[in-house]
Amino acid sequence: MISWERSINIKSHQELEIMREAGRINAEALNAVVALVRPGVTTGELNEAFEAVQRQYGVVSPFKNYPGPYPFPASICTSVNEELVHGIPGARKLVEGDIVSIDVGTIYEGFVGDMSVTVGVGAVSPSTERLIKVTKHALEIAISKMVPGNTLGDVGYAVQTYVEDQGFHITRTYTGHGVGRKMHEGPQVPNYGKPGRGMRLREGMTIALEPMVLVGTPDTIVKGDQWTVASADGSLTAHFEHTVAITADGPKILTLLNGN
Ligand code: MG
Repeated sequence: MISWERSINIKSHQELEIMREAGRINAEALNAVVALVRPGVTTGELNEAFEAVQRQYGVVSPFKNYPGPYPFPASICTSVNEELVHGIPGARKLVEGDIVSIDVGTIYEGFVGDMSVTVGVGAVSPSTERLIKVTKHALEIAISKMVPGNTLGDVGYAVQTYVEDQGFHITRTYTGHGVGRKMHEGPQVPNYGKPGRGMRLREGMTIALEPMVLVGTPDTIVKGDQWTVASADGSLTAHFEHTVAITADGPKILTLLNGN
């Protein structure tokens, strides 16, 4: 999204525990949304399901009214097929064979959990299934690099080489990001890079890792609604995201259903 709080904020153990709960609630609400994905459901209904879980917990989404060309009008992003990120939920009915990236955020006790998954609607083709698998694995690779002393270039290089070796592409325009009291803190975390380059990761940093993978080319456009980012060539795209803490004991995923 558009505006960035650039400072890098190191979190205390206590703050990480709050973020873990923000992430757990976020994952639970996302799970409720994913359970509804089927042909005929509208993306607006997915947004409503997410908000219903948020109301149970008395929490809200940092996406709602996020500043941009105009305030983001929903609590989740739903990006279908060629849409990569920032799609706006609404009247669109999902169709068998579609894929949808569902990107969700939760603010709990002042801290943000941010995550996304891409899921198939009914049965999808084997090549589509492979795109989803590769993107999910790219996230796992990024997470494995979240250790003190690694550089942002190490992370980006690992993701980029894996994705490109699989014959797919990585956007250069949109990146992962630090996350904490704000959804978007520093640093920006590209899914491409060179080993040893860029800032070094430190204990207590919390990063939203989000590989965004395109089938045809790395190029993107913004659609007429001024929010939705799509592949320039109309080819399929996928997106997975977790919020991860860098600790002395290795990477800790903060957006897990069981709270890890
Ligand atoms: Mg994010």
